[in-house]
Amino acid sequence: MPVFPLAKKVDSYKTVAPCKFDAPRSDGTRKHAGCDLGIGAGSSVYAIAGGTVIEATNTGFLVKEGKYNIGVVSIKHDVTIKIGDTEYTSFVVRYGEVDTVKVALNATVSEGDQIAAVAKQADEGTQLHLELYLGEQGITSSSKFKADKKPYMRAFTPSDPASFLDSLNVK
Ligand SMILES: [Zn+2]
Repeated sequence: MPVFPLAKKVDSYKTVAPCKFDAPRSDGTRKHAGCDLGIGAGSSVYAIAGGTVIEATNTGFLVKEGKYNIGVVSIKHDVTIKIGDTEYTSFVVRYGEVDTVKVALNATVSEGDQIAAVAKQADEGTQLHLELYLGEQGITSSSKFKADKKPYMRAFTPSDPASFLDSLNVK
């Protein structure tokens, strides 16, 4: 059974409007591709399940010149989960706005392994930004996620992770 990606449950992704999936961004020209789990900088981020690292970087995910330049880890999880009435035998999670990345590209991880830490963002709030992609959607180790494709600006179509996160307990 997959585990929550942080050491404690948080609910900002349901209770704080800008933290929700689909929340408007950039004056409404795009939508939030994931949900934000508010927690302090330095907090450990854990793999929800076992899988393979398909993206791992300390920089380049979210950049604000002169303030911060922080990273992301993406893992293809080969575990069956049920969302609504549908079962998926694999899914990809992007764990964004992190640093102190502890896993390498193509590495195998186990459920609950620490993969990174929540990054500092100058004087702004800090959080784990989490994106969920159900099924494989053709996502491979060489895939690039960023794309000029409205509304999420992603090459693949993310799903709302909220109900899945609700179902997870801390490790
Ligand atoms: Zn976010």
